[in-house]
Amino acid sequence: RAARTGDAGVRRYAPSMGQIFLRRFQLVTQFRQALDTGQVEVHFQPKIALRSRAVVGVEALVRWVHPEFGRLDPDEFVPAVEATGLVDALTSFVMERALIEVRGWLDRGLRISAAVNLSVRNLADENFPERVGEALSRHEVPPQLLTFELTESGVMSDPERALPVLRRLHALGVVLAVDDFGTGYSSLAYLRQLPVDEVKIDKSFVFGMGSDLSDMAVVRSIIELGHSLGLVVVAEGVEEDAVRDQLVEMGCDIAQGYLISRPLPLDRFEAWLQARTVRVRGLYDETVLTL
Ligand code: C2E
Ligand code: MG
Ligand code: MG
Ligand code: MG
Repeated sequence: RAARTGDAGVRRYAPSMGQIFLRRFQLVTQFRQALDTGQVEVHFQPKIALRSRAVVGVEALVRWVHPEFGRLDPDEFVPAVEATGLVDALTSFVMERALIEVRGWLDRGLRISAAVNLSVRNLADENFPERVGEALSRHEVPPQLLTFELTESGVMSDPERALPVLRRLHALGVVLAVDDFGTGYSSLAYLRQLPVDEVKIDKSFVFGMGSDLSDMAVVRSIIELGHSLGLVVVAEGVEEDAVRDQLVEMGCDIAQGYLISRPLPLDRFEAWLQARTVRVRGLYDETVLTL
């Protein structure tokens, strides 16, 4: 699985440490300009409710179409950007794009929420919640339709600073999700102490659950414990029918993965959505998945 790096598939080269360092440096110095010149795009990957199969949300995922290196997946540049102040600009950029689309879907009668990934720096920024509140009002989007995904390590690296920010975000009414759950060192017990609403089971467990009993056990226990804490449980990395069926059986709430769709650029996502939208009594649109 390690060889898979998103849509692009294979790794193109095996760079030396020096090359990696140089490239990181280049990427960081070029990122601001990349944002301003339209090289940075947001792709959308749908999340469906496992019971109704309706599209309930999207995850907004950043892509950089670099003039020299081609299309870069976030794993190749987000960590470098995160080490700088530029991550504020990245998060704002993705949030703005996401809110514009959520508003547009609402205007067409579709209630689809958007999830934006946060980095540790956002959680250490005490002005961040205010900027989020301002963006929600400006776009006239109800806070329930914006989700922030945070990783365990992001919260746990500096809980003293992160917690007040999380509480203020939560007080705004936005949805908070713990991403990549199960990969960190922390236990489910700490989830109780965080103002979170949703837990996303890491894809490494979801990939394997069709054939690996221990992965299946991990997934099952995250679903059960998540529910016992009143959380919505999302499985990411759903690639196979059999896995989806097992998740339904285990009572998992929401699925995201290549089985449903890869992350798509806006125009292709819109076409995907259009093909799955039905008019309900000529009044409201509703998405129903036909998988
Ligand atoms: P993530 O938040 O856990 O996002 C899910 C990743 O899993 C995405 O990779 C998505 O394309 C991939 N994925 C979803 N379903 C499947 C599947 O069925 N099979 C496989 N093999 N992969 C699947 P992506 O887009 O490359 O993003 C990687 C990571 O980069 C994200 O992991 C997130 O941590 C980070 N990231 C992405 N966009 C942003 C952003 O705007 N800001 C920040 N701070 N981080 C971001
Ligand atoms: Mg995420
Ligand atoms: Mg994840
Ligand atoms: Mg990840």
